[in-house]
Amino acid sequence: MSLKTETQEICSQYQIQPLRRRGQNFLINQETINKLLDAANLESSDYVIEIGAGLGILTQEIAKKVKKVFAVEIDKKLVEVLKNRLKDYKNIEIISGDILDSKCCDAIMLKCFNDYKVVANLPFNITSAVLRKFLSQKIKPKSITLILQKEVGERILAKPPKMNLLAISVQFYSKVKKIFKISKENFWPKPKVDSAILQIVPITNYESSTNIRITNNIDEEKFFQIVRAGFSSPRKYLLNNLVKSGIVNKEESENILSQTNLSLKSRAQELSIENWIELANKIKN
Ligand code: SAM
Repeated sequence: MSLKTETQEICSQYQIQPLRRRGQNFLINQETINKLLDAANLESSDYVIEIGAGLGILTQEIAKKVKKVFAVEIDKKLVEVLKNRLKDYKNIEIISGDILDSKCCDAIMLKCFNDYKVVANLPFNITSAVLRKFLSQKIKPKSITLILQKEVGERILAKPPKMNLLAISVQFYSKVKKIFKISKENFWPKPKVDSAILQIVPITNYESSTNIRITNNIDEEKFFQIVRAGFSSPRKYLLNNLVKSGIVNKEESENILSQTNLSLKSRAQELSIENWIELANKIKN
């Protein structure tokens, strides 16, 4: 039986109508599931948090490869399906809750002994919030491997002169690799847009010493306050945005920019992460 037929049969058996507002587009292609699992580099000692377990088809496949899966699902009806369908898997714990709720998220991390990977075919509307949540944790995941909207993947991978706030929020903390584009035909119901698989490895877990960014002496809150101010009017010069947001006065900002490689006419989207770090360090001092 094809995965599409299996998915439709489960839905009809449990009287499930996939909900658009919950991003319920189920994966129906085994090859794509395999690509996602390959990208996640799963090992038998891993604890995995799966966000949005849905009907549990991907969950089962993850469970075959790892020590334990914490399968989080917000939809109570789907939680019942999961409990029923996955009851024979001793290494799957189904968690009924919202991954964006800090209480739910913190409790799962404790259960993973703060050593975990995240895998998800993510509902598109929570992508940025999920990334912010996991990447700003003190103890970050070893990796985050996601299926997400292709355009969002491209925004995350952006480089100067096309940087944006989301790209900085992710690249500041991690190395990002695009693994594959996935056509919308791989899901049921079929979404409006194509997707991509992205692998995100937080820098603290990144192996090569040459890639370790010196962020220790940066106050992250201050850093993102400066970045947000810089992007406040993306068409305007960075200098004007920083002044208008009250981060620095005009004289200070001209002084600071002259100490960097940046021109007075630089725009926020032209700056690399390293430029932002340099700028934040200069503003701090
Ligand atoms: N993992 C399944 C698959 O690959 O076929 C389902 C993926 S579907 C794209 C996204 C799932 O995330 C849905 O089952 C939805 O109910 C669930 N979900 C949506 N928002 C959530 C949240 N805030 N926390 C946990 N699960 C959520």
